[in-house]
Amino acid sequence: MAIANEQQVSSTVPSTMRTAQFTAFRTAFQIAEVPVAAPRGDGAVVRVEASGVCRSDWHLWNQDLAWVGMNLKLPANTGHEVGGVVEEIGPDVHTIKVGDRVTIPFHESDGTCPQCRAGYENLCDDVKTPGVHRIGGWAQYVTVTAADLNCIRLPEGVSALSAAALGCRYMTAYRAVIDRGGVRPGQWLAVQGCGGIGLSAVQIAAAADALVVAVDIDDRKLAKAREEGAAASVNSRNLTPEEVGQAVKEATGGGAHVSIDALGRAFTFHQSIQSLRKRGRHVQVGITSQEERGQVAIPLDLLTLMEWEVVGSLGNPHPKYAELLRLVANQKLQPARLVTREIGLEDVTDTLERMTRFDTVGFEVITRFT
Ligand SMILES: [Zn+2]
Ligand SMILES: [Zn+2]
Repeated sequence: MAIANEQQVSSTVPSTMRTAQFTAFRTAFQIAEVPVAAPRGDGAVVRVEASGVCRSDWHLWNQDLAWVGMNLKLPANTGHEVGGVVEEIGPDVHTIKVGDRVTIPFHESDGTCPQCRAGYENLCDDVKTPGVHRIGGWAQYVTVTAADLNCIRLPEGVSALSAAALGCRYMTAYRAVIDRGGVRPGQWLAVQGCGGIGLSAVQIAAAADALVVAVDIDDRKLAKAREEGAAASVNSRNLTPEEVGQAVKEATGGGAHVSIDALGRAFTFHQSIQSLRKRGRHVQVGITSQEERGQVAIPLDLLTLMEWEVVGSLGNPHPKYAELLRLVANQKLQPARLVTREIGLEDVTDTLERMTRFDTVGFEVITRFT
């Protein structure tokens, strides 16, 4: 307790900070100077070193997810993929110290609800999502709740770029491939959509000795997927979902054991289902758009006849970070390899506009905040 108080007194956190915010949906972000929120007793302030621009930010900027109750108050400050350094802690923080380098899961959890107590912090009943329930990570500092739980200390050698990726897309792909997908060595995994989550899934599955077939409409992303270990690829431009399924079945000798929809459109869902072999498993990760508003038809009779499974996958529970971070620390997994561009805080609108055109490859990460 004495140490914590001493650290608070010596805090280097300024009273205000630069952040990127928007005042109307789908309009340009502006740089604003806003107060840095003081931490709760169990909380911390983290100086942001790297902050990813994720498609979920794009969805929030587009006012998607309102149909599941996520209504942003304006002006809104998004950003939820943070790697940084702890600069200040509250008096009730016991394991996290000032100076720790950390990643912060986008599902900031309370640690006390039934889901958290069962080890599913990703499904916390009182979740705090940066950029939704508080100022997000496109800022110089973030103020975190329940810091002993939600600040996840990085092992030696894990870069800030990797830490940012581990806040959302990479850890999400890890759970989708390993836990919810359950893909095993020698099995085929189809990845529908090779954006940030899709490329992460390719890298993770290849490292786990699964065989990956990557599906996208952009040859640049398919080339990157092959670099990350995909054994086969299908360019789905101008193909029906049935034709994509046929191409995947040809590439895999009968269909994928597991297929992930890493984008979240009706057509990627149908491509995914059509790519499965009998008893295959579809994993839904992508969030739908204004076109679907969460509603997508399922070919129910085929699901019965083929004994397919359809599962959802969200984030990654905190206890699962230990194994993931060991793999990153030992270079078995290399999230930072997927970072294709480092940008400044003032560049986020440009990145989001290119996301609208599916014109970003891999991760774009903010590393300049001043
Ligand atoms: Zn995200
Ligand atoms: Zn909880």
